[in-house]
Amino acid sequence: MRILVVEDEPDLAHAIAVGLRREGYAVDVAELGGDAVEKLALTPYDLVCLDLNLPDMDGLEVCRTIRSGEVAGEVAPRVLMLTARDSLEDRVAGLDDGADDYLVKPFAFPELLARLRALARRDVAQAGARLEVGGLALDAAKREAWYANQDLELTAKEFALLRYFMLHAGEVLSSERLLDHVWDEHADPFTNTVRVTVSNLRRKLRTVGATDAIETVVGAGYRLAESP
Ligand code: CA
Repeated sequence: MRILVVEDEPDLAHAIAVGLRREGYAVDVAELGGDAVEKLALTPYDLVCLDLNLPDMDGLEVCRTIRSGEVAGEVAPRVLMLTARDSLEDRVAGLDDGADDYLVKPFAFPELLARLRALARRDVAQAGARLEVGGLALDAAKREAWYANQDLELTAKEFALLRYFMLHAGEVLSSERLLDHVWDEHADPFTNTVRVTVSNLRRKLRTVGATDAIETVVGAGYRLAESP
């Protein structure tokens, strides 16, 4: 899951980004609305965490850009609006302009996480916090994964990668697509970071008996078996 955090207060933006990365999300930060619009045009984000009060433009304008389809990717990202203005009119206006949910500042971080998880779930209806594919099981809320009831000890990135594979089991996923959805803008597209992480994940899957769970499709990418 790749998230764009749009927030002009640097300390808050940093705290949100660090917290979300710790949960295994790939996170980019934009401190201005204009910067956000540029990033949205280039990168297919899954979720946007959007401050309503930005110095250069209204957060609602960013929301309208997203809804009008001027964004990268086939599916427009879901939007969680952050606002200090908690009046009812603002909430209604924001939702009309395409925000999927609202969070009033100040908020507790677990609340932010819960809202983002709920929005991510809505994108893939069958994907609750718990996912199962063949012998693989994963609980996003607890950050735990198993194969045939054996624990998988995964890094945050390996966990995020496995989750993305499980959400798209049976599909061939290119390195570019994995890089777009599981890594953030600091990932160098010319390094072998995807290959290395896939290889580490495979090794850990093998140690619990999931030998051929992730297949390499030559020239196209990788595929998680539908019943590993
Ligand atoms: Ca602000």
